[in-house]
Amino acid sequence: MKKLISILSLLVFGVFFAQNKINAVDVSSVQLRIMQKYRNSDSIQKKKIYSDSIYSPYQKLWNGYLGNSDKVIKWHNENESQIKAWQQKSEKINGKQISSSLQKFSKEMKKLTGYDTKGTWYILFGPAWTDLGGLGKYAMVIDLSHENNTSIEKVELILPHEITHQIMMTTNKHIDKTALEPIIGEGFAVWMNQKYWKKKYSLAQHLGYTDSELKACEQNLQNIKDFFEKNKFSEDKDIIDILRSRETKLNEKLPGAIGYYIGYKIIEQYVLKNGKDSWKDVFTKSPREIYEKSGF
Ligand SMILES: [Zn+2]
Repeated sequence: MKKLISILSLLVFGVFFAQNKINAVDVSSVQLRIMQKYRNSDSIQKKKIYSDSIYSPYQKLWNGYLGNSDKVIKWHNENESQIKAWQQKSEKINGKQISSSLQKFSKEMKKLTGYDTKGTWYILFGPAWTDLGGLGKYAMVIDLSHENNTSIEKVELILPHEITHQIMMTTNKHIDKTALEPIIGEGFAVWMNQKYWKKKYSLAQHLGYTDSELKACEQNLQNIKDFFEKNKFSEDKDIIDILRSRETKLNEKLPGAIGYYIGYKIIEQYVLKNGKDSWKDVFTKSPREIYEKSGF
């Protein structure tokens, strides 16, 4: 009986512990190992081993990113010629490095914010539909095949931004379907990324813009503000797309994802107005309240 209790308490503790930390799953090294080992096997054996070793253990991930078992197996068959390139790439950037960066950055973000980061990150070789992005609210994906993922520094540059989003998922319970929600969320993530790195990177880099794109924003601030004033409470998908998508632009002079810039400006002004530690409010207050108290 005593043994049973200790096993039970271990289980409970294990579950509790798992929910309170960042969990990095390195699928990429499994892909490399299996594809290399079985590359000369016949198609029936390959189908079984790809299904058992690559698809099934990460079913939820693949269904969200590439598709069902057949699609995942087909994709791996079609991309066998990439193994060599992937192996070379994994010498510069790989799942092991990223896992340890995630642990390090989540610890440092806890020191900075007081909050734990909870969430699962998958590192894989895939169709490069994203360099680094969310699978809904369920997990994050880092696709090493993407041309942007060339070094661990490049991934690390954006980790405080992404970790800020993950912290917000548990700390901020407000439901807001207007344009303000992504504006404040992205602006705050950019602002936190800058706070974390201090002077190491430029504001343009934190925003994912080029220097001239940022300059264009500054020169057209009044236009951007007019657009924001007109649309800040909009729930229109196309409007929200202009604010958050890199591909959709307000006009050809300006970069996409203009909401990142607007949101950054709002947070900057909020902190100026409400005191140097007031950024912590964004973790718990509604986007509307942050906006209204910013004076933007
Ligand atoms: Zn973001």
